[in-house]
Amino acid sequence: MEQLEYKNKHISNILNEKENKDVYDFGDEYKKFLDNKTERECVKSIIDVARKNGFINIDEVNKLKPNDKIYIVNKNKNVLLCVVGNEDICRGINLIASHIDSPRLDLKQKPLYEDVDLALFKTHYYGGIKKYQWTTIPLAMHGVIYDKNNEKKEICIGENNEDEVFCITDLLPHLSKEQMDKKLKDGIDGENLNILVGGSSIDDSNVKKKILNVLYEKYGITEKSFISAEIEFVPAFKARDVGFDKILIGGYGQDDRSCSYASLKSILDIDKPSKTCISLFVDKEEIGSNGNTGMTSNFFYSALIDIISKCNGVCNLSDINTTLKLSRCISADVTNGYDPNYKSVDDEKNVNRLGYGVAISKFTGSRGKSGTSDANAEYLNEIIKLFDENNVVWQTGELGKIDIGGGGTIAMFITNYNIDVIDVGIPMLSMHSPFEIISKYDIYMLYKAYYSFYNKM
Ligand code: MN
Ligand code: MN
Repeated sequence: MEQLEYKNKHISNILNEKENKDVYDFGDEYKKFLDNKTERECVKSIIDVARKNGFINIDEVNKLKPNDKIYIVNKNKNVLLCVVGNEDICRGINLIASHIDSPRLDLKQKPLYEDVDLALFKTHYYGGIKKYQWTTIPLAMHGVIYDKNNEKKEICIGENNEDEVFCITDLLPHLSKEQMDKKLKDGIDGENLNILVGGSSIDDSNVKKKILNVLYEKYGITEKSFISAEIEFVPAFKARDVGFDKILIGGYGQDDRSCSYASLKSILDIDKPSKTCISLFVDKEEIGSNGNTGMTSNFFYSALIDIISKCNGVCNLSDINTTLKLSRCISADVTNGYDPNYKSVDDEKNVNRLGYGVAISKFTGSRGKSGTSDANAEYLNEIIKLFDENNVVWQTGELGKIDIGGGGTIAMFITNYNIDVIDVGIPMLSMHSPFEIISKYDIYMLYKAYYSFYNKM
């Protein structure tokens, strides 16, 4: 009788020598993708690599035929790649959907001020962060801003070694008694996440003016430019190997760029699939999927109509409804890994561990499965069968013990289309921190899982 035990199921025992090397190579390539630290940078980089692999903008084609490869981009922050299948698209598509936004610090619209001869930016955090983790680390500035001539400028400062970086200060321990007596969540106030962007010098009595001059000279930016800007401050360091065996990767934005990367790689690698395959990369997941580049936007629906129309010459209401009803989706997002320092938050019988393969979550949510889609048994069984037949090492778990907390993914928004959806991602330590940790084994296995979904489902 087969028993569901972890013993001997670690991926390293299952892979052969070549595959064990592939794991490291895959991880090294993936680390480069993590240089894309904003949704806009991800979209750019995804389109760039897609074009190099034969994908073209859907606007450049009138008719689509099997194995055609196209992309559709939405407002520079949301994109989908599609490989047309051999079968009629109205018999359903295979969709993998991940998100490319990550928790960070956005600038307020009037950010710059000076205090005690230092210049600072006021921020408004984006997504669920533990505020104390974002102080006293080097931060880089990314985003778009319109200069004095109303020309769009793309900003990226702090990623090269010679660049300046930015930082949020914290109180010295010597004077922190009051702060340390507070609850951890109250230790750093949201309105105190102010980023140091300049110091004074003898001839500059007005440091705000000095910084405005620098911004004007270097970038043509004025104080007014910030009002319409989208500026994101993110950790300034690169992704690195973690541990003596170099099997773990630490880095910013791995929720959810680990799953995005595996989704991207798998759609680039498929050839002549029978089902039409779509890899969707959405924005705004970390703030509830609202906004026209998030999963609740009309983008995916209208893009699918566009694709069906170009495949079949027409797309009436029943075509789109039939396609959606017969489609299958993997919601590609990370889940929590079992952390030896914080074992008490998890049910050890139902938790995912680093190095033990892709994590399947039948449901997410909290407080009695609230805020989740809960996958159907029939579909989940199909997925497990697919993975077993294709040597995909998988595990299954829940995000924490019941009533400890919880979280959601974009799965529930996709099920609104009547598509069958299951969450398949990888476990992660220190989620939403500036330095999230995953296993190279798991992301390699995730690629295999997504590839088999596109190719064999
Ligand atoms: Mn996520
Ligand atoms: Mn997240």
